[in-house]
Amino acid sequence: MKWPSVILSFDTEDFVTPQSDDALAFLVSELNRCDIPGCFALVGDKARALVERGRRDIIEALADHEIDYHSNDHHFFPPLATTIEPMDWEQGAAWALQHEARGVGDIEAILGRRPVAWIKTDSHWTTQSLHAFRVLGMGVYAARHFARQDLRPYWYMNMLCLPYAWMFDRFIAEDGSPEQVLARAVAQFEASADAAGEGGVIVYGTHPCMWVCQTFYDLHNIKRRGQPPAKGKWRPAPLLDEQRIRRNRRFWSLFLDYLQGTGCELLTYADMSARHASGAMQWLTQKQLGTLARGAIARFASSAVGGRSYSCAEILGALGWALARFEEGGLPGRIPVRSPLGPVETPRAMTEPLNVCARAVVGAARKASAYIDEYGRLPSGIDVGGHHFPPAQLLRAAAEAYLSILDTGKACGATLTPGPDCPEDAELLEGASIGSYALPKDYRPERLLEQGRLQSWTLREG
Ligand SMILES: [Zn+2]
Repeated sequence: MKWPSVILSFDTEDFVTPQSDDALAFLVSELNRCDIPGCFALVGDKARALVERGRRDIIEALADHEIDYHSNDHHFFPPLATTIEPMDWEQGAAWALQHEARGVGDIEAILGRRPVAWIKTDSHWTTQSLHAFRVLGMGVYAARHFARQDLRPYWYMNMLCLPYAWMFDRFIAEDGSPEQVLARAVAQFEASADAAGEGGVIVYGTHPCMWVCQTFYDLHNIKRRGQPPAKGKWRPAPLLDEQRIRRNRRFWSLFLDYLQGTGCELLTYADMSARHASGAMQWLTQKQLGTLARGAIARFASSAVGGRSYSCAEILGALGWALARFEEGGLPGRIPVRSPLGPVETPRAMTEPLNVCARAVVGAARKASAYIDEYGRLPSGIDVGGHHFPPAQLLRAAAEAYLSILDTGKACGATLTPGPDCPEDAELLEGASIGSYALPKDYRPERLLEQGRLQSWTLREG
């Protein structure tokens, strides 16, 4: 059997139950015994608690593992979504950046390096905080919020997004001997290996606290959902009995031995980032952009050329850049690939077709390109000569104008027609939700979910 590559990922968050530190210490020591890399996504509160409780042993044991990020405070103090939702997008992004910079800074100070990946807390995400994590240097987003089951990596908001295939927590919650638990975990591993296919990568997550606790520390402390107690008032979670804890430890040792025995490749998020990220500035040739333009006309979706996929935001960015230079005197021989975010406000819907001349199309493309340079994202619409271009219609018109220039040396006008405002890639996000113990149960974050949908402009295959 050809095994997929595996990433072992740890949501390391319980800052109130001291025994969760011991669980973490044991999981790490077994990884060290087997020389297997782990990816430890720490919450700022947890890193500070390790210092507080004098657990230098753990901090040192983590030296050979990847350090990742799981928020400053698990998005509890104050809750992320309800704090950000009333703000305008820029304010929300600035708030998230300010708040999370503290957690990233503390983790760097305590563990000696900056986190590589962002691992989502519960189903608690916003586009503003994802942008903040990217700005803080995290190029990977694991346990992503995409609703569609699909093990393949995708880019979203310029982060390489990976799903969790499953959690070890499921197996240690079940009764049975270490060998019985192992048998169930191995059966699951083989099933997901089949699903991932050859060359696939699967991420296995776990919460170290659940190897010793009966329940989550946050669930234990929240009596009335939406009103968590003040941070200083949180109480340790109830513990499992000694026998169960020993059983869990034995299972972990057996599973790592099994994993080693398969000979599968064990990776970190940094390895994934190195495989998928392009690093330096990329350029498209005139012909390559022509291929992407034809693709955008055939299908409103991300597409690939020269072995790399391009989001609709990148394609519009490149077309805008090229058409702006054309207007100044000539089509450039090579076009830089910029990776703007999608619009942050819902584009105004078109109600009827609109004919626009070549000059208006080129002018709108130039204005969109300048907007991308200034704000790093797509505009929600561009006004030129009394005409309003939503981004979707501008993409198609710009693609037609660009191909016309390649063909005849002249741009062409277009008929803008009503249609979807987001690319087909948005299907990946359909049914996505936002929820956590930090949020009120009846909370319906329509605005945040809509902002998430608009970022489907940045989706592309990894
Ligand atoms: Zn968590």
